[in-house]
Amino acid sequence: MKKTILCLLLLPISIFAQTLPDSTQLLQDLRWFSSDILGGRRPGSPGGRAAAQYLSAFFAFQGLKSFKDQYFHPFTVNRGNASLSGKNVLGYIEGTEQPQIWMVISAHYDHVGTMNNQVYNGADDNASGTAGLLQIAAYFSKNKPRHSILFAAWDAEEMGLQGARAFMQEPVVPTDQIALNLNMDMISRNAQNEMYITGTHPYPFLKPIAEEGARQSHIQIRYGHDRPEDHGAQNWISASDHGVFHQAGIPFLYFGVEDHPDYHRPTDDFERIMPSFYFQAVRTILQVAISMDQNLDTVMIHRKEAVAK
Ligand SMILES: [Zn+2]
Repeated sequence: MKKTILCLLLLPISIFAQTLPDSTQLLQDLRWFSSDILGGRRPGSPGGRAAAQYLSAFFAFQGLKSFKDQYFHPFTVNRGNASLSGKNVLGYIEGTEQPQIWMVISAHYDHVGTMNNQVYNGADDNASGTAGLLQIAAYFSKNKPRHSILFAAWDAEEMGLQGARAFMQEPVVPTDQIALNLNMDMISRNAQNEMYITGTHPYPFLKPIAEEGARQSHIQIRYGHDRPEDHGAQNWISASDHGVFHQAGIPFLYFGVEDHPDYHRPTDDFERIMPSFYFQAVRTILQVAISMDQNLDTVMIHRKEAVAK
C-alpha cells in the first residue's frame, strides 16, 4: 500500500521533469558559457575551444550520435588576410518514424572575444541560445522524436554566419531532406516580456504549428521582423544563422528578443539576464520544437511545393 502511494506521488514529478527544461542546469550552463574564463568565446581562442569541448561532452553524455568519429565539424574562418580555425559542434538523434526527414535545431556559441582588456561575455548573445540548445537536446534524448533532429552549435556567427555557411558547403545530411531550421539567438531577457518568432511571413504554413506549440507560453510571443516592409535592422531574416538556411530554400523559425543596451557590449553579462523569462523562453521553444516534430512531414510537403513553384 505504501508503495502505491509513493508511486502516485512520484508520477507527476517525473512527468514534469520529462516535459520541462532543467532550470538549474540551464542557468548553470549559461553562467559558465558567459564566464570570464571563456574570454568571450572568439573562434579559435582557448575559450572558444573550451566551449566546444563542453558542448561535445554534453552531446556524448546525452547519447547523441556523431556524424564522423567526433562531434566537431572543423572549418576555416576567413578574417580578411588571416584565418582562424572554427569548429561547429554537431550531434543528432535519429527519428523513430521517418528518420530520413530532418530538423536542424541550432544556436551559435561563439561571441566577439576580449577587446581592450574587456571580456565581451555574450550572456544573452548567445550563451542563452547555446544552453537552451543543450536542454532541448536533453529532452529529445529522453523523448525520441518522430523525425531525425540535428543539433548544431555554430561557431563564427559573429564573423558573418561562417559556421552555418561551412555546414551548408559540406552538409553532413542531404540538404533536400532538411525540412526546417529552428534557430535561437538572444533569448534570455526582455523588459516587455516578449520574444519574437521570425519566419512565418515567408513560410506561412509554419504559423499554425508554431502557435499550437506556443499556446501555453507564459511570455508574450510576437510574430514578425520578416516582412518586405521591415527594412534594415528591423528585418531579421538574415540576422543570424537561419539566414543561411533561408538562402538555401530551407524554411526556418528564428527565436529572439529585441536588441537591448548591452547588445555587443562588455555588459552583456549573466547578471543582466532574466532567469524566469529565460526559462519560459526555452520552455516555449521546446514546445514549438515538439509541435514541429509532430508535423514535420507536412512541413516537408510544403517545402517541396515551395521549391517546385
Ligand atoms: Zn548572436
